[in-house]
Amino acid sequence: MGTKPALKKKKIEATLILIKPDGLAKSLTGNILTRLSETKLEIAAAKCVRVSRELAKEHYRALRDKPFFPELIKYLMGKYHNRKKVMALVYVGEAAIQRVRELSGATNPEEADPTTIRGQYGRITTKGVYENVIHASASSTEAEREIKLWFEPQEIIFPLYPTKTAKVTTQKEIWK
Ligand code: UDP
Ligand code: MG
Repeated sequence: MGTKPALKKKKIEATLILIKPDGLAKSLTGNILTRLSETKLEIAAAKCVRVSRELAKEHYRALRDKPFFPELIKYLMGKYHNRKKVMALVYVGEAAIQRVRELSGATNPEEADPTTIRGQYGRITTKGVYENVIHASASSTEAEREIKLWFEPQEIIFPLYPTKTAKVTTQKEIWK
Protein backbone atom coordinates (compact mmCIF):
# COMPACT_ATOMS: atom_id res chain seq x y z
CA MET A 1 0.00 0.00 0.00
CA GLY A 2 1.42 3.39 -0.94
CA THR A 3 0.29 7.02 -1.09
CA LYS A 4 -0.67 9.16 -4.01
CA PRO A 5 1.54 12.11 -5.03
CA ALA A 6 0.37 15.59 -3.99
CA LEU A 7 2.07 17.60 -6.74
CA LYS A 8 -0.73 16.97 -9.19
CA LYS A 9 -2.12 20.50 -9.28
CA LYS A 10 -0.76 22.56 -12.12
CA LYS A 11 2.33 24.64 -11.28
CA ILE A 12 2.40 23.42 -7.69
CA GLU A 13 6.02 22.63 -6.99
CA ALA A 14 8.16 21.51 -4.08
CA THR A 15 11.69 22.81 -3.54
CA LEU A 16 14.52 21.92 -1.18
CA ILE A 17 16.11 24.70 0.82
CA LEU A 18 19.20 24.34 2.96
CA ILE A 19 20.35 26.99 5.38
CA LYS A 20 24.05 26.30 5.00
CA PRO A 21 26.52 26.25 7.94
CA ASP A 22 27.51 29.91 7.43
CA GLY A 23 23.83 30.89 7.65
CA LEU A 24 23.54 29.07 10.99
CA ALA A 25 26.88 30.42 12.28
CA LYS A 26 25.72 33.96 11.45
CA SER A 27 22.38 33.41 13.27
CA LEU A 28 20.46 34.02 10.07
CA THR A 29 17.80 31.32 10.42
CA GLY A 30 15.12 33.77 11.56
CA ASN A 31 15.97 36.34 8.89
CA ILE A 32 15.99 33.72 6.14
CA LEU A 33 12.66 32.21 7.24
CA THR A 34 11.16 35.70 7.37
CA ARG A 35 12.35 36.40 3.82
CA LEU A 36 10.98 33.01 2.70
CA SER A 37 7.60 33.78 4.26
CA GLU A 38 7.29 36.71 1.82
CA THR A 39 6.76 34.08 -0.88
CA LYS A 40 3.56 32.82 0.83
CA LEU A 41 4.74 29.28 0.12
CA GLU A 42 3.98 26.55 2.61
CA ILE A 43 6.60 24.80 4.76
CA ALA A 44 6.10 21.07 4.32
CA ALA A 45 9.15 19.80 6.24
CA ALA A 46 11.99 21.11 8.38
CA LYS A 47 14.85 19.63 10.38
CA CYS A 48 18.47 20.13 11.42
CA VAL A 49 20.85 17.66 9.81
CA ARG A 50 24.43 16.71 10.62
CA VAL A 51 25.96 16.42 7.16
CA SER A 52 28.16 13.41 6.48
CA ARG A 53 30.76 13.47 3.70
CA GLU A 54 28.62 10.98 1.78
CA LEU A 55 25.52 13.17 2.00
CA ALA A 56 27.45 16.32 0.98
CA LYS A 57 29.04 14.53 -1.99
CA GLU A 58 25.73 13.09 -3.09
CA HIS A 59 23.99 16.46 -2.78
CA TYR A 60 26.60 18.18 -4.98
CA ARG A 61 27.35 15.18 -7.22
CA ALA A 62 26.77 17.23 -10.39
CA LEU A 63 29.72 19.45 -9.43
CA ARG A 64 32.17 16.64 -8.59
CA ASP A 65 34.57 17.58 -11.41
CA LYS A 66 34.80 21.27 -10.45
CA PRO A 67 38.07 22.51 -8.94
CA PHE A 68 36.23 23.88 -5.91
CA PHE A 69 34.45 20.57 -5.14
CA PRO A 70 36.64 19.51 -2.15
CA GLU A 71 36.18 22.93 -0.48
CA LEU A 72 32.45 22.88 -1.28
CA ILE A 73 32.05 19.52 0.48
CA LYS A 74 33.93 20.82 3.54
CA TYR A 75 31.76 23.93 3.51
CA LEU A 76 28.49 21.96 3.47
CA MET A 77 29.80 19.66 6.21
CA GLY A 78 30.35 22.73 8.40
CA LYS A 79 34.12 22.36 8.62
CA TYR A 80 34.68 26.10 8.15
CA HIS A 81 32.07 27.22 10.67
CA ASN A 82 32.31 25.00 13.72
CA ARG A 83 28.66 24.22 13.00
CA LYS A 84 28.38 20.68 11.76
CA LYS A 85 24.81 21.03 10.65
CA VAL A 86 22.47 22.57 8.14
CA MET A 87 18.76 23.28 8.36
CA ALA A 88 16.85 21.44 5.65
CA LEU A 89 13.39 22.62 4.56
CA VAL A 90 10.84 21.73 1.93
CA TYR A 91 8.63 24.55 0.65
CA VAL A 92 5.61 23.88 -1.52
CA GLY A 93 3.43 26.12 -3.66
CA GLU A 94 2.89 27.73 -7.02
CA ALA A 95 6.15 28.17 -8.95
CA ALA A 96 8.01 27.45 -5.69
CA ILE A 97 11.31 26.62 -7.37
CA GLN A 98 11.68 29.84 -9.33
CA ARG A 99 10.33 32.05 -6.59
CA VAL A 100 12.78 30.74 -4.00
CA ARG A 101 15.66 30.97 -6.49
CA GLU A 102 14.75 34.59 -7.19
CA LEU A 103 14.61 35.42 -3.51
CA SER A 104 17.96 33.63 -2.98
CA GLY A 105 19.79 35.56 -5.68
CA ALA A 106 22.76 34.69 -7.90
CA THR A 107 25.20 31.94 -6.92
CA ASN A 108 28.08 34.42 -6.64
CA PRO A 109 27.15 36.64 -3.68
CA GLU A 110 29.08 39.56 -5.20
CA GLU A 111 26.89 39.38 -8.30
CA ALA A 112 23.67 38.74 -6.40
CA ASP A 113 21.23 41.61 -6.17
CA PRO A 114 21.86 43.22 -2.76
CA THR A 115 18.21 42.80 -1.77
CA THR A 116 18.34 39.00 -2.20
CA ILE A 117 19.30 36.61 0.62
CA ARG A 118 22.69 35.85 -0.94
CA GLY A 119 23.26 39.49 -1.82
CA GLN A 120 22.47 40.52 1.75
CA TYR A 121 24.39 37.86 3.63
CA GLY A 122 26.81 35.98 1.34
CA ARG A 123 30.57 36.41 0.94
CA ILE A 124 33.44 34.95 -1.06
CA THR A 125 36.15 33.40 1.11
CA THR A 126 39.91 33.81 0.51
CA LYS A 127 39.83 30.15 -0.62
CA GLY A 128 37.37 31.19 -3.31
CA VAL A 129 34.29 29.39 -1.96
CA TYR A 130 31.02 31.23 -2.40
CA GLU A 131 29.58 31.17 1.12
CA ASN A 132 26.09 32.09 0.06
CA VAL A 133 24.10 31.01 3.16
CA ILE A 134 21.34 29.15 1.32
CA HIS A 135 20.80 26.33 -1.14
CA ALA A 136 17.67 26.22 -3.27
CA SER A 137 16.77 23.60 -5.89
CA ALA A 138 17.17 24.87 -9.46
CA SER A 139 14.65 22.66 -11.33
CA SER A 140 11.87 20.21 -10.58
CA THR A 141 14.11 17.25 -11.44
CA GLU A 142 16.76 18.57 -9.07
CA ALA A 143 14.15 19.31 -6.39
CA GLU A 144 12.77 15.77 -6.51
CA ARG A 145 16.22 14.20 -6.31
CA GLU A 146 17.26 16.50 -3.46
CA ILE A 147 14.05 16.19 -1.42
CA LYS A 148 14.29 12.39 -1.65
CA LEU A 149 17.95 12.58 -0.60
CA TRP A 150 17.36 14.74 2.48
CA PHE A 151 13.92 13.57 3.64
CA GLU A 152 12.04 10.35 4.15
CA PRO A 153 8.39 10.35 3.02
CA GLN A 154 7.00 10.41 6.59
CA GLU A 155 9.04 13.52 7.48
CA ILE A 156 7.07 15.58 4.98
CA ILE A 157 3.69 16.83 6.10
CA PHE A 158 1.89 15.59 2.98
CA PRO A 159 2.86 13.08 0.30
CA LEU A 160 4.76 14.77 -2.54
CA TYR A 161 5.90 11.83 -4.61
CA PRO A 162 4.62 8.27 -4.98
CA THR A 163 5.64 5.94 -2.19
CA LYS A 164 5.57 2.22 -1.62
CA THR A 165 5.49 0.16 1.53
CA ALA A 166 8.60 -1.86 2.19
CA LYS A 167 9.64 -4.02 5.10
CA VAL A 168 12.93 -2.69 6.46
CA THR A 169 14.87 -4.49 9.14
CA THR A 170 17.75 -2.11 9.91
CA GLN A 171 18.56 -1.29 13.54
CA LYS A 172 18.06 2.27 14.72
CA GLU A 173 18.40 4.39 17.85
CA ILE A 174 15.14 4.87 19.77
CA TRP A 175 14.25 6.72 23.01
CA LYS A 176 15.15 4.78 26.14
N1 UDP B 1 30.19 27.44 -5.70
C1 UDP B 1 31.44 27.99 -5.47
N2 UDP B 1 32.13 28.51 -6.53
C2 UDP B 1 31.64 28.51 -7.80
C3 UDP B 1 30.36 27.95 -8.02
C4 UDP B 1 29.68 27.42 -6.95
O1 UDP B 1 31.92 28.02 -4.33
O2 UDP B 1 32.33 29.00 -8.72
C5 UDP B 1 29.45 26.86 -4.56
C6 UDP B 1 28.37 27.80 -4.01
O3 UDP B 1 28.31 27.64 -2.60
C7 UDP B 1 27.11 27.28 -4.70
C8 UDP B 1 27.39 25.77 -4.74
O4 UDP B 1 28.79 25.68 -5.00
O5 UDP B 1 25.95 27.61 -3.98
C9 UDP B 1 26.61 25.02 -5.79
O6 UDP B 1 26.85 25.57 -7.05
P1 UDP B 1 25.69 25.76 -8.13
O7 UDP B 1 26.35 26.09 -9.42
O8 UDP B 1 24.77 24.61 -8.08
O9 UDP B 1 24.96 27.11 -7.63
P2 UDP B 1 23.56 27.30 -6.88
O10 UDP B 1 22.57 26.34 -7.48
O11 UDP B 1 23.79 27.05 -5.41
O12 UDP B 1 23.19 28.74 -7.15
MG1 MG C 1 22.74 24.29 -7.78
